[in-house]
Amino acid sequence: MAKNISETNTPKTLAGAIRFFSDEQACIDYVAAIRWPDGEVRCPSCDSAEVNYLSNQRRWKCRTKHPKQQFSIKVGTIFEDSPLSLTKWLPAVWLISNCKNGVSSLELHRAIGVTQKTAWFMLHRIRLAMQNGTFETKMGGGGGPIEADETFIGGKSRNMHKHKRAEKITGTGGAGKELVMGLLDRESGKVRVKHLTNRKRKTLQGEIRANVEAGAEVFTDELASYLGLDEDYVHEFVNHAEEYVRGNVHTNGMENFWSLLKRGLKGTYVSVEPFHLFRYLDEQAFRFNERKHEDGDAGRFKEVVSEVCGTSPHLQATDRQGGESTRRRDAGVNAKRQRRGKRGKLK
Ligand SMILES: [Zn+2]
Repeated sequence: MAKNISETNTPKTLAGAIRFFSDEQACIDYVAAIRWPDGEVRCPSCDSAEVNYLSNQRRWKCRTKHPKQQFSIKVGTIFEDSPLSLTKWLPAVWLISNCKNGVSSLELHRAIGVTQKTAWFMLHRIRLAMQNGTFETKMGGGGGPIEADETFIGGKSRNMHKHKRAEKITGTGGAGKELVMGLLDRESGKVRVKHLTNRKRKTLQGEIRANVEAGAEVFTDELASYLGLDEDYVHEFVNHAEEYVRGNVHTNGMENFWSLLKRGLKGTYVSVEPFHLFRYLDEQAFRFNERKHEDGDAGRFKEVVSEVCGTSPHLQATDRQGGESTRRRDAGVNAKRQRRGKRGKLK
């Protein structure tokens, strides 16, 4: 049986988390209680609940005879092939799920006492877990208007406001700028963001149609790519050359998210390669969407741990330390993009 974790003695703060998770058995009990909420530990190979806990090895042993009869809490999670102890992993998850502007590998290295290279690896693994939330439904179902907007992010930590004149004229962000599109459901207060290669009508409207219920109100700026949305939506836009707000028609909610995103990128990450951008986007969207979590930091942490438990590292060859060929990287991104329902990510 997995032990029950009582809400009263689980940590509420970073300092509390570091103290609480300094004990490996406490880590195992915590993750087990989330992974098997009914308290029944199941063999990851055959799903049998007939297992014994070998407390001296901190592993379980399935009573059915098959390969990999013994398993640790890490099997089938993003921690599986890592030699690092959960006493390092869990405080790292706490930091990354709750730090407002993101965590750098340097900060993580200092906070939990691993090398910076290890910290970098851990951050990427955890961000990966944060991508796997589900979006079964489209936005706008609650009737709340949807704000759609795009922005450009500098490939090398230089961020540029999309309303800059030059961009409006050329219609591009210039060399080294990455295009990001976002949707905000004002009713739920949640965003979905995605790194795109262009802002052509087909691309932007395709994202809106894939993510927003037909008939919903959609607010945008005057970008020509949004023209024609009124076939399927109640489309209203503001012309930013003249006004930023007309009644409730504005994209200030998305603007707010962009400024948080850019502050995070600028303050934390020295350089975000375009290849990694979607992870940073997902991480920031996760934090934004969970910002009003009823259980605060502890609740957000638990959400990430739950996702960690359902994430297999074997699909994620691209996440191993870097150094793979570009082709493999691309294959990894595509595989990831094809998977359904990512948190904070357009489908
Ligand atoms: Zn088994």
